[in-house]
Amino acid sequence: MVEIQDYTKALDVLEEYSPRDGLHVDALLDSDKHGALTYNDFLLSIVLISRAAFPASDVTLESRVSRRLTIKAPLLSSPMDTVTEHNMAIHMALLGGLGVIHNNCSPDEQAEMVRKVKRYENGFILDPVVLSPKATVGDAKQLKAKWGFGGFPVTENGTLHSKLLGIVSSRDIQFHNQPNDLVTAVMSTELVTAPAGTTLAEANDVLRSSKKGKLPIVDEDGSLISLLSRSDLTKDIHYPLASKVQSKQLLCAAAVSTHDADKIRLQKLVDAGLDIVVVDSSQGHSIYQIAMIKYIKREFPQLDVIAGNIVTREQAAALIAAGADGLRIGMGSGSACITQEIMAVGRPQAAAVRSVSSFAARFGVPCIADGGVSNLGHIVKGLALGASTVMMGGLLAGTTESPGEYFVSSEGQLAKAYRGMGSIAVMEGKGKAGDNAGTARYFSENDKVKVAQGVAGSVIDRGSVTQFVPYLVAGVQHSLQDIGVKSLDALRDGVNRGQVRFEKTSASAMAEGNVHGLHTHEKKLYTS
Ligand code: GDP
Ligand code: GDP
Ligand code: 5GP
Repeated sequence: MVEIQDYTKALDVLEEYSPRDGLHVDALLDSDKHGALTYNDFLLSIVLISRAAFPASDVTLESRVSRRLTIKAPLLSSPMDTVTEHNMAIHMALLGGLGVIHNNCSPDEQAEMVRKVKRYENGFILDPVVLSPKATVGDAKQLKAKWGFGGFPVTENGTLHSKLLGIVSSRDIQFHNQPNDLVTAVMSTELVTAPAGTTLAEANDVLRSSKKGKLPIVDEDGSLISLLSRSDLTKDIHYPLASKVQSKQLLCAAAVSTHDADKIRLQKLVDAGLDIVVVDSSQGHSIYQIAMIKYIKREFPQLDVIAGNIVTREQAAALIAAGADGLRIGMGSGSACITQEIMAVGRPQAAAVRSVSSFAARFGVPCIADGGVSNLGHIVKGLALGASTVMMGGLLAGTTESPGEYFVSSEGQLAKAYRGMGSIAVMEGKGKAGDNAGTARYFSENDKVKVAQGVAGSVIDRGSVTQFVPYLVAGVQHSLQDIGVKSLDALRDGVNRGQVRFEKTSASAMAEGNVHGLHTHEKKLYTS
């Protein structure tokens, strides 16, 4: 080899090299050569995108969660009874992601959770809880305990579209010890109101300048039309990424099974304000699921349907043809799951995500990479392979916002229960009230022998999602900054064009990539 003396020629000489260093994504995932890979089998390595300097905070992670709905942080919490109830769903949405409320409860309980998410934040509250002049302080206190808010307009008939008489606020009832007194005795009657037709921005201005907690909107006869709450202005400021629909209510998703009985469940969820339904099935490519998707598209055209779970293009094609607005990818990759071991079916997650999402992209159908995410790098990898969003179960189950209480594990660590939805504990309905109509993801009532596809266990405390999710978001932003792209679209485009390249790892490469050779170390992941 002739040595080149002129070092300024380095970039020109590079041009002569072919192929490029690193692998194109399709070469990496060539299963003839490498077998089917999963997240730990590869790294994003060589990046050829030109490096204009920009701060990580310039990276936008906006992504579609379904055909019509976009969120600002591509992170979803799984519909599992140890992961997502209303509290998780509210906080995931506030932080820019989305929580999918599980269906291992009665339809009414699930609808109530949807209602709580939809009521949590508002622009105009179009169906405020209204009291009649005959209501008592005790009634108001009960409603406050139920809903968490205590500002109630009082109208002549006790309904919307009736003459506004006053407003009872939390402070009016807090220390009032005569529960039988009428609310009219404690309510404020000197009200600042705004007329019908006021825009949200104008109404917010009135609310800001009036320094009141509530702004009722009234028509020319003084009848109540809607209500605005000061605390929504604060929520809007505190949570700039929040996933909201046009009404300024939080985006809400919930799961249903493919069983016919869940058509009634779905109606209740829709009545409660549901935006996205996730048809939850461990093997999504079934006649039942296809029939359910078609039913939902016909009966609830405004609702986006996410179908799954699937791992191959063949399965994807069937669900896309049936009308799915989004797909959920993953079979057997979940951390509490034993499907691959017991049923001998499934697919390594990286291979599944690439295969399904590249096919679905041709139809504009976004995909969720569901399961198998045990660190931030796995999120980046799922997104780089073409998923629009990433769904987590185990990683979020240890947070304050998941259902259930913390306990101290035998090793002395703070822990919370986490169980697969196909575990025996769930199939037998342990630990949950309700009619368990939804437990049939892995089990049909006719089965005499229950075969588990998941395990029940615990995960360690991860603090609040209000700190953990912003860490995940900032981490993904930093990763994209390293790669040199400012958005997830640019990342996927770079991957498809072969500008973002990959490296297949080996067991020894993985060992090298992890902390090694230290006597002790503490793995603190973030500060906030
Ligand atoms: P309050 O002063 O005790 O009513 O409670 P806050 O003002 O702290 O909280 C009210 C929150 O509940 C706001 O985010 C509202 O958007 C939300 N909310 C949802 N539905 C209603 C409703 O019917 N009435 C009231 N007052 N708030 C509601
Ligand atoms: P638009 O898309 O241009 O209408 O702008 P936005 O929808 O972002 O905001 C319209 C107005 O609503 C602005 O004054 C926002 O500050 C305000 N806004 C946004 N979210 C909320 C919310 O959750 N509650 C309330 N009360 N106002 C909000
Ligand atoms: P994780 O984030 O814990 O790795 O995976 C969560 C995902 O595992 C869920 O979203 C769901 O798709 C899947 N899952 C939940 N429970 C079970 C189960 O019992 N068996 C199987 N095979 N998968 C499960």
